[in-house]
Amino acid sequence: MSWEDNIRKVVPYVAGEQPKDRNIIKLNTNESPYPPSPLVAEAVKNIETDQLRKYPDTNATELVEEMAKTYGVSKDNIFVGIGSDDVLALAFLTYFNSDKQVIFPDITYSFYDVWAELYRIPYVTKPLDDDFNIIKEDYLCDNGGVVIANPNAPTGAEMSIDAIEEIVRFNKDRVVIVDEAYVDFGATSALPLIDRYDNLVVVQTFSKSRALAGIRIGMAFGNPKIIGYLKDVKFSFNSYTLNPYTIAIGAAALKDREYYADITAKTVKTRERMKNELKQLGFTFADSKTNFIFAKHERLEAKDIFAALRAEGIYVRYFNKPRIDNYLRISMGTDEQMDKMIAFLKGYING
Ligand code: PMP
Repeated sequence: MSWEDNIRKVVPYVAGEQPKDRNIIKLNTNESPYPPSPLVAEAVKNIETDQLRKYPDTNATELVEEMAKTYGVSKDNIFVGIGSDDVLALAFLTYFNSDKQVIFPDITYSFYDVWAELYRIPYVTKPLDDDFNIIKEDYLCDNGGVVIANPNAPTGAEMSIDAIEEIVRFNKDRVVIVDEAYVDFGATSALPLIDRYDNLVVVQTFSKSRALAGIRIGMAFGNPKIIGYLKDVKFSFNSYTLNPYTIAIGAAALKDREYYADITAKTVKTRERMKNELKQLGFTFADSKTNFIFAKHERLEAKDIFAALRAEGIYVRYFNKPRIDNYLRISMGTDEQMDKMIAFLKGYING
C-alpha cells in the first residue's frame, strides 16, 4: 500500500501550443486574429485598483446584466464562469449524476472525455459518419445525458437546429448540453429553445468571436431552475471566480456590437475564401461554420504538412488520434496571414 493508491489519477487535456515568438503565424488554437474592441482597453484603464482590496461580486452582476440585454434573456437564465471550460466542467459535475452513460460524439472537443473520467461519469461515444456529421438517431436512446458541440470541433460541421431540437425533445428526462463555442461564425443557436425545453443548457464563450480568450469568460444559458443547480455546485466549490477586470472587460465588450459584427464577418469572409484556396490545393473538408477548417490532403500526409508549416513558423493543429490523424485544423487568421500560409503550401505541394 502506498499513498499513491489513493490518488485521483487523470490524463489531462492537452491545450494547443502558445509559442513566445510573436512572429509565428498562430493558426492552432482558434483564437481571434483581431484585437478585442477598443472599449475593452478603455474599461481596463478605468478600473480602480482600490476595488482589488475586496472580494469580487460572486454574481458578476455588471457582466450578467449586460449579457441579459445582449441575448434577450433574464439574469436568472445565465451562469458565468472562467471560460466555457469552467462552465462545461461544472455542468458535467452538476448534471451528469446518474449510473447511465452520458453520450457524445467520438470526434468532438477532447475535453469531454477528460471531465467524464475526472468525475467518474460513465460515458460512451457515438461515431460521426464518414463525412464527419453527427448521426442524430444515435442520441435518441436511453442515456445519462447528452453533450453536443454545435458546430462541432474539430470538424467545424453544423448540425441542423431541427435535429438539435429533436434530440432535446427526445431526451426530456435528462440534460442536453449544447456547446456553442463557435456559433457566432454563421451557425444557428439553440438559445431560443431554452424557454421551451427545461432540460437544455446552451454554453457559449468570449474566447472566439469576442477575441477575449485571455480574459476567460464563458456562460451557460438555461431556465432558472437548471441554472440554479449549476450555481449551487459552483458556490460549493469556488465562489469568487470572476475578478473585477474580467467583469468590466466582459461588460465593455458586449457594448460594442458593431465592432464584433465587423470582425466576425471578416473571419467568415476569410474562411469562405480559404475554402476555395484549399480546395484548389487538393484539400477536402467538411463545410465549416466556424473560425477554422479541418482539412485533409488528397495525397500528402497531414503530419508532414504540419511539420513543414511549423518549420516555416506557421502553427496549425494536428491531432494524433484515431480517424483524424490525417487532418489539420487550421484556424482563420487575418487575410495577410492566410495568404502567407497559402503561398507556402502552393510551393510545398506543387513544387
Ligand atoms: N468548447 C469547444 C468546442 C472549444 O473548442 C473550446 C476551445 N478550446 C472550448 C469549449 C473552451 O473554450 P474557453 O474555455 O476558452 O471558453
